[in-house]
Amino acid sequence: MTVVTRFAPSPTGRLHVGNIRTALHNWLLARKQGGRFLLRIDDTDSERSREEYVEAIREDLAWLGIEPDGEERQSQRFDHYEAAFARLVEAGRIYRCYETAQELELKRKIRLGRGLPPIYDRAALALTEADHAAKAGEGAAPHWRFKLDHDAPIAWEDGIRGAQHFDPAQLSDPVIRRADGSWLYMLPSAVDDIGMGVTDVLRGEDHVSNTAVQIQMFTALHAAPPQFAHEALLVGSEGKLSKRLGALGADALRHQGIEPEALLSLLARLGTSQPVEPMVDRAMLVEGFDLSTFGRAPARFDEAELERLNAAVVHQLPYATVAPRLPQGMDEAGWEAIRPNLSHVGEAADWWRIVTGPVEQPGFDAETKGYLAEAARLLEWGEDPWRGLTGVLKEATGRKGKALFLPLRQALTGMDHGPDMAQLLPLIGEAETRARLVRASA
Ligand code: GLU
Repeated sequence: MTVVTRFAPSPTGRLHVGNIRTALHNWLLARKQGGRFLLRIDDTDSERSREEYVEAIREDLAWLGIEPDGEERQSQRFDHYEAAFARLVEAGRIYRCYETAQELELKRKIRLGRGLPPIYDRAALALTEADHAAKAGEGAAPHWRFKLDHDAPIAWEDGIRGAQHFDPAQLSDPVIRRADGSWLYMLPSAVDDIGMGVTDVLRGEDHVSNTAVQIQMFTALHAAPPQFAHEALLVGSEGKLSKRLGALGADALRHQGIEPEALLSLLARLGTSQPVEPMVDRAMLVEGFDLSTFGRAPARFDEAELERLNAAVVHQLPYATVAPRLPQGMDEAGWEAIRPNLSHVGEAADWWRIVTGPVEQPGFDAETKGYLAEAARLLEWGEDPWRGLTGVLKEATGRKGKALFLPLRQALTGMDHGPDMAQLLPLIGEAETRARLVRASA
């Protein structure tokens, strides 16, 4: 059986690191097994769903290289939900209710006060057809609940959490449809997982009790439930589910100069027993993906760690990947010389100015000027001009270490540190190298 996974965002905002992580893990789960990964847009809520967010979700996934093998939209599948709804009504698994939000809240408080679990008391199950007719006569439209089977204990083997058990009598019969006919999340999701042949549902542990309910929906619709796995939630470095994390989107990270490879490397391993390491090659991400390494403790997302990882990733990125983002004229040799100095690809332009000039040299004292004049005189352009130059200068002046190297670096780049001079000199070229030394010595 081919593995089919899905990522099911609601287009009510941009993707943030939490749902990017879910998307990534579902993509990896499918890729690892040669399966299919679907993007399912959960847009049954027409008031809160926005087309611009659908676009943004597609763009963010494309930027990350998490390409879906297919896309579905719940708003185009209402007929499937109607059909399933009709079947469940027929089977006596759906019933009509009329309580207002305030009435439900009051019931909840009373139950809590009596030390009972704050679940729906099923009062509406006692309504007769005459009662329903009377409600209709008053102009009241019902909302609809799915009736859990209290005699069918719920159990599944969770891919991350292990054996899970729920007593359905401890759960509320969920509202699945509003009085205006619109759908809530629960039923359409189960119907789609069946209809799209989803074999593996991997999502956050905030969905564990939804899974308990949905397992009964699968059974009621005569379908075998998929494999479920619920991952521990992502928390900020301070250990809480931070607001900042919820708002930290792919777009913001991108503008911050974070490479998709860095974000994916971090999110692939966070909360697992495997070490976080820079993985520029996607095959490595896929290869290493293993649900059995996922832990139950919240995964801590640390932006400082992401920045460190980003630098490590940038140091490995091949020229072809970054070429369109590099300054004009910067070739492969230039990228390789400069890459080790970067935390973000965007900084390449600053370093490239060292090559193209003009560089701003510090004021040198007379002795150093003399030294630099000597350097200009002795410069010979061979196979490895930096080695050649420092070699003859060492011999001619007796200087070594910092005294030998630093004035040259300052004169040639205007800086105290930076890329490897041996790699830099061929990029600066003979004439410009000499000109900078002469100018510094004047
Ligand atoms: N749209 C739901 C959410 O974003 C999907 C949950 C699921 O994976 O079933 O929470």
